[in-house]
Amino acid sequence: MVDLNRRGLVLAAGSTLAASAIGAPALAAAQDRKIGYAIVGLGGYGLGIIIPQFKNCQHSRLVALVSGDPAKAKRVAAEYGVPETHIYNYQNYDSIRNNPDIDVVYVCLPVSMHAEYTIRAARAGKHVMCEKPMAVSSAECEAMIAACKQAGKKLMIGYRCHFEPNNLEAIRRARAGEIGKLRYFRSEHGFVAGNPSAWRLKKAMSGGGSLMDIGIYALNASRYMTGEEPVSVYATERTDRSDPRFREVEDMIEFELEFPSGVLGSCMSMYSANRNQILLMGDKGRIELEPATSYQGIRLRVGSGMGEAVTPPPTTGLRAGTTMWAGQLDHLAQCIRQNREPIVPGEEGLRDIRIIEAIYQSARERRRVALRA
Ligand code: NDP
Repeated sequence: MVDLNRRGLVLAAGSTLAASAIGAPALAAAQDRKIGYAIVGLGGYGLGIIIPQFKNCQHSRLVALVSGDPAKAKRVAAEYGVPETHIYNYQNYDSIRNNPDIDVVYVCLPVSMHAEYTIRAARAGKHVMCEKPMAVSSAECEAMIAACKQAGKKLMIGYRCHFEPNNLEAIRRARAGEIGKLRYFRSEHGFVAGNPSAWRLKKAMSGGGSLMDIGIYALNASRYMTGEEPVSVYATERTDRSDPRFREVEDMIEFELEFPSGVLGSCMSMYSANRNQILLMGDKGRIELEPATSYQGIRLRVGSGMGEAVTPPPTTGLRAGTTMWAGQLDHLAQCIRQNREPIVPGEEGLRDIRIIEAIYQSARERRRVALRA
């Protein structure tokens, strides 16, 4: 039976049955309707970065807010034209099920809250975009994937670099064989952590230190730049435990990744230095991104021998004038409309968390840890 409510129409778009039942103009209107997002957690990322991006979107719009701070939520709602009826808190969150304007919940909360708010969203009949790292453990990631599958909802992880033109161009060039046979991948990612009482430095809320937060960019890049899955990891941790920031979580962790083709990955993650770089070496040249995954100013260089060329900013994969965040938001919107799987689904987040667990195990046990295929 065809579901003729609004969401059903969007999902059924293209079906002759739906078209004949509602007529072509109504179907076109359903396809034109932007997908509605509720942002959960109005912090540095949700409020500072994501909310202002809806103006750059073609297929997505901001329709609701979820916050523990009613005054902030009211102010943000007024600024972005969100009706006050569409403001929720963590207690009445489940009542989003009764709001047909909300299609997707975007979870921008401390990591320990990702699983709960993803699972509650799926049970409320909503699709989910969840920030990285996906959760504090692979068991939580598995529960999130299962809940979204059971509810028949999409789950995407906020890996914005999969929508960043320089990173996409780097991948294209590597796959096209421009630097020859791949030899090794190197990435250093870090920033200087601040306030010792911040949730990022509390293990119960973050799940871990620099690796979970920033080193995950190096890990994820090692997989998308090589196009391979690592088969083993070896890690060494260096943390000054007398530093009040690092009582609970690690500062520096260096990890080596072994890939099936023989490519070696070598990554450094840290909370005590600012660094943001990716290097992919082949036997005919190299591809370098520096900064590689920052919010702006990403630069791609491709070179062979001792020479080096700075390439002009590519436009691969993104509409002119748009941003990686708009690309990410609109990608999920299009996946919902066309009933496709996102390119960075929950399984992608789970893969990184499984490798991160193996990296921590390796550092703890001081031995190489094999990864499941
Ligand atoms: P913030 O601390 O700035 O914001 C988190 C928000 O979560 C708070 O403002 C608050 O919103 C809400 N919250 C609810 N309960 C708590 C609690 N107990 N402690 C703290 N905050 C709480 O974090 P970020 O915005 O930097 O990070 C949020 C998520 O986004 C994380 O998963 C992080 O890894 C990810 N992130 C991703 C980035 C990317 O580039 N993809 C960059 C930065 C972060 P409210 O007051 O509205 O309730």
